[in-house]
Amino acid sequence: MLTDNITRDESGALLFAGQSVNALADRYGTPLYLMDEDRIRQNCRMYLEAFRDYFGEGSRPLYAGKAASFRQMYRIMAEEGMGIDAVSPGEIATALSAGFPAENIYYHGDGKTDADIAFALDKGVGCFIVDNGDELISLNEAAEARGIRQKVLLRITPGIDPHTYAAINTGAVDVKFGVPIETGQAMEFVRAAMTMENLDVAGLHCHVGSMVFFENVYLRTVDLMVGFMAEVRDELDITFRELNLGGGYGVRYTDDDPHSDIPARLREVAARLKEKLSAADLPLPNFLMEPGRSIVADAGMTVYTVCSVKRIPGYKSYVITDGGMTDNPRYCLYGAEYTVLHTEKRRGLRAIYDLAGRCCESGDIIQPAISLPVGTHRGDRVAVCTTGAYNYSMASNYNRFPRPPVVMLRRGESFLAVRRETVEDVCALDI
Ligand SMILES: *Cc1c(COP(=O)(O)O)cnc(C)c1O
Repeated sequence: MLTDNITRDESGALLFAGQSVNALADRYGTPLYLMDEDRIRQNCRMYLEAFRDYFGEGSRPLYAGKAASFRQMYRIMAEEGMGIDAVSPGEIATALSAGFPAENIYYHGDGKTDADIAFALDKGVGCFIVDNGDELISLNEAAEARGIRQKVLLRITPGIDPHTYAAINTGAVDVKFGVPIETGQAMEFVRAAMTMENLDVAGLHCHVGSMVFFENVYLRTVDLMVGFMAEVRDELDITFRELNLGGGYGVRYTDDDPHSDIPARLREVAARLKEKLSAADLPLPNFLMEPGRSIVADAGMTVYTVCSVKRIPGYKSYVITDGGMTDNPRYCLYGAEYTVLHTEKRRGLRAIYDLAGRCCESGDIIQPAISLPVGTHRGDRVAVCTTGAYNYSMASNYNRFPRPPVVMLRRGESFLAVRRETVEDVCALDI
């Protein structure tokens, strides 16, 4: 199987985290997001242990909340001792309402408004990751007005193409995030930040992309960032105490994706970091990363009921489900790949179908050219694997479809973390 929390019983029925997917669908309805909480915690611990073993005291992983943001996620992160990154007042408010400590929140975003800045300062968010010079000035003024000195990291663009999907590539020079080293603008950004009396500039941040499997991407990022830290020291006489390399480790969406040994990769990053820092005569800063996908993706599965099987002789066939781009827009957005499984039948003759949704959009495809048993019919259930990241968090109400619930699976039990939206919820804001 794709990941070891997906198995089958003797009859061939699909199990997720050891629980019957059909029984869960009967109980909670479809479409349905399942989240394996034990797996989420296991993934957190993998990062926490590796950080403890390979990086110094004060270093730690931050969960990138955008991957899956709802209260139970932040309760888990608080219990496991993770920091988090947040991208909006909505994510910050969700985390705080779950009891997550404000000082452990790193606040991202390339377009923070004055209202966003005020909100985060007033909530006591621990650190701002400042994306650009405009934000720097506004944040400094807002901090001054409150009589505080706000801790910040400066987002730098190291200029690396991690060779992943173009749409999720954020490290190259001319992206909308951060300030590039190559053009000399990053040095000016640091220089400007150091003149801001109400900002405590703790260090640098970068994020080179997502679905990264090639370790040399992070090693190269270390080289560039340490190189820049040395330039900053030489030119401005500043030594930073924090370095954040962002997120991005890849996960297995299909059997063609490699298994990544993240602790081994982190050990290599630590070795390279220490080597480069000592060559540049710089001290080891607190080291941070922001894994999102690799914490939650393999903890997720989406279950659908088949509404129709449509065969067009001489052309393609479709399996049409009760979900679609409203609960999983990732294939539509950037051609993301997924593994699709029938919840019962495993053997027998198979055929190729496009797995489609029920939105009024011909592009509403969850995954093209998947293989399912030929007997698949209305009322059957299919599961899309590895949907824990960027599915619930990207869900929409297009066509006014209510969003599915999120059900957590923990030590053999299940419970609702987010209830199913109703048609009344969907109308609730209309005057
Ligand atoms: C998206 C993002 C992450 C998380 O990336 P994953 O690929 O989910 O690990 C972390 N940091 C920043 C700044 C991001 O934009």
